[in-house]
Amino acid sequence: MPGVGPKRAGVLNKELKLFTFNDLIHYYPYKYIDRTKFYNISEIHANMPYIQVKGVIRMFETIGHGAKQRLSARFYDNTGSIELLWFRGIKWQKENLSTNKEYIVFGKPSEFGGKISVVHPEMESTKEKTLQSSGLFVGYYNTTESMKKKYLNSKAINKIQLTMVAMARGKIKETLPDKLIAKLKLMPLEHALTNIHKPENTHELQKATFRLKFEELFFIQLKILALKNNRQQKFKGFRFEKVGYNFNTFYNDFLPFELTGAQKKVIREIRRDVNRPLQMNRLLQGDVGSGKTLVALMAMLIAIDNGYQACLMAPTEILAQQHFQGISKFLSGMNLNIGLLTGSTKTGERKKIHEELQSGKMQIIIGTHALIEDTVIFSKLGLVVIDEQHRFGVAQRAKLWKKNDLIPPHILVMTATPIPRTLAMTVYGDLDVSVIDELPPGRKPIQTMHFFENRRTQVNNFIKQQIEKGAQVYIVFPLITESEKMDLKNLEEGYRQLSETFPDYEISMVHGKMKPTIKENAMQAFKRGETQIMVATTVIEVGVDVPNASVMIIESAERFGLSQLHQLRGRVGRGAKQSYCVLMSSYKISTESRKRLNTMVRTNDGFEIAEADMKLRGPGDLEGTQQSGIGFDLKIANLGKDGEILQLARNEANDILDDDPFLQKQENQLLLKNLLSSKDTSFDWSSIS
Ligand code: ADP
Ligand code: MG
Repeated sequence: MPGVGPKRAGVLNKELKLFTFNDLIHYYPYKYIDRTKFYNISEIHANMPYIQVKGVIRMFETIGHGAKQRLSARFYDNTGSIELLWFRGIKWQKENLSTNKEYIVFGKPSEFGGKISVVHPEMESTKEKTLQSSGLFVGYYNTTESMKKKYLNSKAINKIQLTMVAMARGKIKETLPDKLIAKLKLMPLEHALTNIHKPENTHELQKATFRLKFEELFFIQLKILALKNNRQQKFKGFRFEKVGYNFNTFYNDFLPFELTGAQKKVIREIRRDVNRPLQMNRLLQGDVGSGKTLVALMAMLIAIDNGYQACLMAPTEILAQQHFQGISKFLSGMNLNIGLLTGSTKTGERKKIHEELQSGKMQIIIGTHALIEDTVIFSKLGLVVIDEQHRFGVAQRAKLWKKNDLIPPHILVMTATPIPRTLAMTVYGDLDVSVIDELPPGRKPIQTMHFFENRRTQVNNFIKQQIEKGAQVYIVFPLITESEKMDLKNLEEGYRQLSETFPDYEISMVHGKMKPTIKENAMQAFKRGETQIMVATTVIEVGVDVPNASVMIIESAERFGLSQLHQLRGRVGRGAKQSYCVLMSSYKISTESRKRLNTMVRTNDGFEIAEADMKLRGPGDLEGTQQSGIGFDLKIANLGKDGEILQLARNEANDILDDDPFLQKQENQLLLKNLLSSKDTSFDWSSIS
């Protein structure tokens, strides 16, 4: 390509992973600047992101010496003047710029000592008609520091792209079927790629952006849905025809409360899934405390009624134990054999469990990763429930599938990390999703407050008052030991201070670096009510259930992400008492942090928080995105903002696959070809999970 020699090519390979023309033309601008707009100098203020003005230089001045030398020019239009400043290339500027000649100046205004200046502006004579001033929206491209050092800045990339689109004219093959393009009035691909780099006007830019976003999301959806079709064809499942004795007895005689509408709905969905000869693969989303475990338990009873075994896998020992205790209690009136298998199960006990699972004598097994081990052999595993799935990788899930030789068990994955719908459609698009969007009745919404350090005394008084009323309190710290230069309260220091502040109370402490047995003892002491305060790191984030703990204090709350704050808050609000969550932060917090804390104060709704989180952080950082098993990398679409386009893309993909599940029709050959050749994913039709 003209303008790209071996050196530049090397930089593009290394820094942007661009190797081919095709890669290059799909490297889109992240923003556009309207170079059709000119400002008057009198309008300019330092908060503007950039300005473009037309005028003349009246005088130059070189100020300072040596390394501190700078060149200053006074630039005038009819409304006033600003200063232009150069710290580098002074000699060149002096030789090439002249006074009393009309220039277009473009740059970011800044203010120093009450005066407006533009440092290192882009300068262009109005006589030299170049690309930049030809009335275009100019694309801005992300570049790296090391690219800038080699003069491959956004402007240079822009120039390369303009060459690129000129060269590509007539050579870009359409990727979508004509029918679809006509139906949705999409801009043809070549036109869209040209316009994305070199927009004629805002209207064209919008149409180009829409086309490219649609295409990107459409192929992801097509891929995911094709995969799902494929799996359903391939993986037969056990058919659970009956809802029998165990389910009914539990439901009629032992269930201590009425199921919520949402729980009933999800049980019906699961029931429908397992009553087909296909493997169920369902994601169950629901906020903490929404009653997912109970739904899972009832699904397990259906498995047992049909002569199968069920297992429940939790990410930590504490959680597995809690599930075991909870489920054993629910089923205590029934004659079922339930086991607990974790890393710390004693050898003798372990041996017995292994035997009973293999013989089929044990119907329900609850545990941790220990369940995955090859020594664990089931007689007839029919259902696998995985709790808090974001702690497990796809590979681990797959291992459980393989516990049966021929037919894999049904899979129910539970997560309390709500995932925005748009993300769920993409990341878990191959799973069916059920949502419990209703809390059991009688729960009082948790009250959340945000305080700065100066309210410490009041907060301490509040803690005292609550403990006097019989409540227990969690206090969460972000780190175990002092790190970095930041003025962070660490856990041990916090523990020491709390012991001084509350000499009359017993305090437990848990953190991730403790021995499991010590940690467990501390947890149990708190659970039994022997200690009033639990000082902890985020190890308590997942699933710990102490209904009497109704106050959660989160120290340095600005250090936590939104979903983490929400998870932490979910530890309270589990009993009958009014619960509270207090977010403590320093004064100096970023706007982002403030938004996060405000969101927490404003709402308890996990889905609303997930949406807010995605908007603040972008979907790439969200937990779960790495685990889809389907790698994808969005170049232009944004899951936080393009929900509607995503839905449209999904609907279209669905319609096409409904009509032609394996893309065998002539009109779909183009799609099949693009699907198979897309290189951003290691898409393998035969591998699932
Ligand atoms: P999750 O796993 O979604 O966090 P759990 O299943 O642990 O929620 O339920 C939280 C608490 O609510 C448990 O004590 C459970 O027994 C109780 N619970 C579940 N469903 C209901 C219901 N329909 N009505 C009242 N309490 C319920
Ligand atoms: Mg739970």
